[in-house]
Amino acid sequence: MTHSETLVLDGGAVADRIREGLAPRIARLKERGVVPCLATVLVGDDPASATYVRMKGNACKRLGIASIRVELPAATTTEELVAAIRGLNGDAAVHGILLQHPVPPHIDERAAFEAIAAQKDVDGVTTLGYARTAFGLADFPCCTPAAIMAILAHYELPVSGRHAVVIGRSPILGKPVSAMLLNADATVTTCHSRTADLPAIVRLADIVVAAVGKPKFVRGDWIKPGAVVLDAGYNPGNVGDVDYAACAAHASAITPVPAGVGPVTIATLLKHTVDAAEKFGA
Ligand code: NAP
Repeated sequence: MTHSETLVLDGGAVADRIREGLAPRIARLKERGVVPCLATVLVGDDPASATYVRMKGNACKRLGIASIRVELPAATTTEELVAAIRGLNGDAAVHGILLQHPVPPHIDERAAFEAIAAQKDVDGVTTLGYARTAFGLADFPCCTPAAIMAILAHYELPVSGRHAVVIGRSPILGKPVSAMLLNADATVTTCHSRTADLPAIVRLADIVVAAVGKPKFVRGDWIKPGAVVLDAGYNPGNVGDVDYAACAAHASAITPVPAGVGPVTIATLLKHTVDAAEKFGA
């Protein structure tokens, strides 16, 4: 069975709405002498990561948010990275710090994330940020999970009482989005690489969140007719974790890739930076 009218969830429109709300807040901050500032930290020369960091810097610039780019060589040690992050913690002009994931494998990424001051953890990557997200108390939950929730809210798609199946359990995406859906009163099943008979579980879902990191992983015949599909995946060649055409044929609503979750993630990062500047800026 196919779904007759599938709503394409336009991430650009959701991102525009978020940015529109930020412009007057940034103007008010500047009147107070505070220019919101995001520091991005990139380690190594992975081209995809460099592109993401550049996109985030450009997005800041368009909105009048300052940005500082810290670029460190691939041979950077954990200690050197932690020291660079601590330097940003101590810089009063910086309101948000984003360490681009992944870092080279010899670095202890968790230790680097933990070095980010809670007040500047605008991507919710510290254990405190994660715990506060789980309690529904976070100032800045992880940006991609928050973007997924913002898309659901923007389109007034019901979450309460629905069965949400999240595929993926990473600390920056699958786990926090599961917690946020649970806090929004969904019944949540979180799946991962050891899940038995994944297709059968996904077929039960009213809401499917794909956060796997494998192109076109979610098949059309896994989607219950009328389900809502949110594709957080972003694989080389602008391909999501969902087989878009096949899943759109069954879904009542679906995010495309690109122009779905990605732009909302960036707008959410900007919003969190402005939130941090308002809350903690001098
Ligand atoms: P990750 O850390 O690699 O985690 C992937 C998750 O998928 C893991 O929990 C893994 O299970 C699970 N998985 C892998 N193979 C599976 C399988 N065969 N069946 C079921 N589950 C499986 O990735 P991530 O950082 O969460 O990112 C996920 C995707 O989101 C990627 O495409 C990434 O590019 C994208 N992403 C997008 C944005 C955005 O702004 N749109 C932001 C961040 C990430 P185990 O835990 O058992 O290994």
